[in-house]
Order: sequence, then C-alpha cells, then structure tokens
Amino acid sequence: MPIEEIRYQQIVKDLQAANVTLVAVSKTKPIEDIIELHQAGQLDFGENYVQELIEKQQKITTNIHWHFIGHLQSNKVKQIIPFVHLIHSIDSLKLLQEVNKQAQKINRIVDCLLQVHIAQEETKFGLDESELNEIINTSSSLEHVRIKGLMGMATFTDDTQQVRSEYQKLKQLYNKLKSLPQCSSFDTLSMGMSGDYKIAVEEGSTMVRIGSLIFGERNYNGSK
Ligand SMILES: *Cc1c(COP(=O)(O)O)cnc(C)c1O
Repeated sequence: MPIEEIRYQQIVKDLQAANVTLVAVSKTKPIEDIIELHQAGQLDFGENYVQELIEKQQKITTNIHWHFIGHLQSNKVKQIIPFVHLIHSIDSLKLLQEVNKQAQKINRIVDCLLQVHIAQEETKFGLDESELNEIINTSSSLEHVRIKGLMGMATFTDDTQQVRSEYQKLKQLYNKLKSLPQCSSFDTLSMGMSGDYKIAVEEGSTMVRIGSLIFGERNYNGSK
C-alpha cells in the first residue's frame, strides 16, 4: 500500500510549526514504504521488534535515524546498540544497565528515554515514579547512556479528556525532572500517536510517534 503522502506533508507542516520531531512508525510495513517516505524527506523511523528492525536496517543503507520504541528484552539489546539512534522504552534499571554495558563494549554513548506508566491499563509497560527516581539517581554512574527525557503512552480510549490529563501529568513530571542536575541532558518528551498526537502537542510533546496515519492501518493482531 502506498504511503499517505499528502497527509504526511500536512502532519510535517503542523509539527514543524510546533517544533516537534516526527518519528514515522514503520513496524510491519515493507521496506519500499520506508524508502518512499525517506525520499519524501523523512529521517526518523520507529520500530517495535528487534528482529524486524535488524532486517530493515541491514537492507536500507541510507542514512536513517532508527528509533526503538517497543518493549525491549535485555538479551536482545546487544543487536541494536551499534546503530540505534534513540531507545524510547527503557522500563527498568536492569535494562538501562544492559544498554550501558553493551554500549561500553563498542565505545558508544547511546541516547535513551525512560518510559513512564501513565495509562490506566495495567498491561502497558513503564516505570512508576519511585522506579523513575531510582533510575535517575543511579544513571549518573552509567557513562555510556545519556538520558534524554521521557516517553509515555496514554490510555487507549475515546475519552480525550482522560488522554489530555495523562499527557499533562507526564509533562509536569518531565518539567520537574528537567530542573534537576542529574537530568541536564533532558530535551525530549516522546508522547503522541496517530489517534492523539494533536492533544499531545498541545500539552507540550517534543516528539510524536505516528504510524497508521502515514502508512495506513496495520493488518495483524496485536498491532498496539
Ligand atoms: C505502534 C506504536 C505507535 C504508532 O501507533 P499508531 O497508532 O499507528 O500511530 C507509537 N508508539 C508505540 C510505542 C507503538 O508501539
């Protein structure tokens, strides 16, 4: 299926006006779609699965910024460390330590976001506030990771007020942390997807992750 190019250009225009970075979420989509969008000017792409990301990264040799946005297992970290641009989904200290260890081996500093649990659904991944504080207080000793900010996913609901209040809370947390000396690298708040990115931008997002609105619906089960 071709990409929704006119819609893409409109989204880009809106986001540029708000100074927000677009990560095009290409999970499950073919390489041709990624190349097409890259040729239309898109630099940042997001993937959820390590195996799929590796395959795409090996086949597409142009300069793309690959973002990892899905749940990341510690035993798979090593495979993405050589090239990943930003990991959005750090959800435990153990995972961050593994990223640090693998990055150290190849002498890289890898940029990461801490994923915060803001939704009502228990099933979603992410840190609560006490885990977040623990990580932040430990992270200064991890010299091969740089914490650039936070990521969050709102509840999957039609209740826009609910979504807005979850994003407001995340923004407040982000602002609070950003003022700490341990968080001097903070410049990124990754929040907003196809269904709610406008609300997220109004509430202070600096980076949105949009898939289906650009690439069309994904037709497989468990597409969240
Ligand atoms: C799939 C996914 C997105 C994009 O979802 P769309 O609704 O298609 O825009 C964004 N963030 C994460 C973490 C995802 O898994």
